[in-house]
Amino acid sequence: MPFNIEQHLDEITKLRHRLHAMAEVSGEEQDTSEYIADFLESTKPDQLKTGVGGNGILATYASGNAGPHILIRCELDALPISDQIEVDYRSQTEGVGHKCGHDGHMAMVCGVARLLQQRTLQSGKVTLLFQPAEETGKGAERVIEDEQFQELDLDYCFALHNLPGFEKHQLVMRKDVFAAASVGLIVNFQGSTAHAAHPEEGKSPALAMAQTVQAFSSAPQFYSPLEKAAKVTVINANLGERAFGTSPGKATVMATLRTYDGDLLEKLKTKCLDIARRTAETYELSMDYEWVEPFPATTNAKDGYKLVQLAAEKLELNIYEKPSPFSWSEDFGHFTSDIPGAMFGLGIGEEHPALHAESYDFEDEVIPTGISMFMQIITEISSSNNNE
Ligand SMILES: [Zn+2]
Ligand SMILES: [Zn+2]
Repeated sequence: MPFNIEQHLDEITKLRHRLHAMAEVSGEEQDTSEYIADFLESTKPDQLKTGVGGNGILATYASGNAGPHILIRCELDALPISDQIEVDYRSQTEGVGHKCGHDGHMAMVCGVARLLQQRTLQSGKVTLLFQPAEETGKGAERVIEDEQFQELDLDYCFALHNLPGFEKHQLVMRKDVFAAASVGLIVNFQGSTAHAAHPEEGKSPALAMAQTVQAFSSAPQFYSPLEKAAKVTVINANLGERAFGTSPGKATVMATLRTYDGDLLEKLKTKCLDIARRTAETYELSMDYEWVEPFPATTNAKDGYKLVQLAAEKLELNIYEKPSPFSWSEDFGHFTSDIPGAMFGLGIGEEHPALHAESYDFEDEVIPTGISMFMQIITEISSSNNNE
């Protein structure tokens, strides 16, 4: 194992299990954040900033020589999904579990911290970011808006996501777009209630709701070209109350819009709003709407991609170039839109339970691979700069 990871593995694996047991949802990662800050303190960073964009933490390790500033990012949050796994480190928080493996991501970045503590960095600086609220798409933006982050003046950013469905230790890469852009839309139709015996005296949004569900679901077919993927997934629809004597007066439709291309997403947003507006008009309803949880596409820079590729080759990892981007979204896209860098995937087993499944647990076996990848990328950048 390169980079003397072996001697820290026991500590890092235990840390992963502690984090798993204290799972906290987006925006409420106080205990996790405190625990990580304590750990980072022990790695003697040159700077440690807490309360970044909420519960976020930044730990900076400087070489003392001029050179590029590299950001390595991981996430603090778990999900409101119960932890259905039989292990002694099972989540202690009812209904909350680390079902996206962010506990594993944190553990790997903590491993990087232990190695940076050895002061082997040849040039420039490395900052480790423990980001809050990834799952709701709010965390990255809030971190970026925070002055403590803006002071950093970064040159590169990198992150990884663990991937069930891929061979253990396999490096999954993408040129250009890595993960989709997406946004949530909430449409509220407001009519008026009436006695169920006299729906004609009220304004029921029942048909408006039904037609909107249909029109949203088929929108990609009409508004996106064949070569560009787009999806509108209706995630919730709600009409009136459980009151058999009442013709309903209110309805809500919620959908997630998803593309690989920011411009197409903008077009699709306009189309979906048009659909909702026109439907409201047809049935003489009033309509309001809200956009929630926006995620830009996560786009890998050429340079960032090459560095990941070089690192994976040097570590002799099995590299898989994915033919199309991931259709899920990642708020790391907020970083890659400003800072050149890349996100890559790390396989945790072909038969492994899926992300966000109740039976999912991170795979400890890949911890050294993740640490090595980040360390190799850091080494490539800081050593090449030193030779110039
Ligand atoms: Zn997730
Ligand atoms: Zn995740």
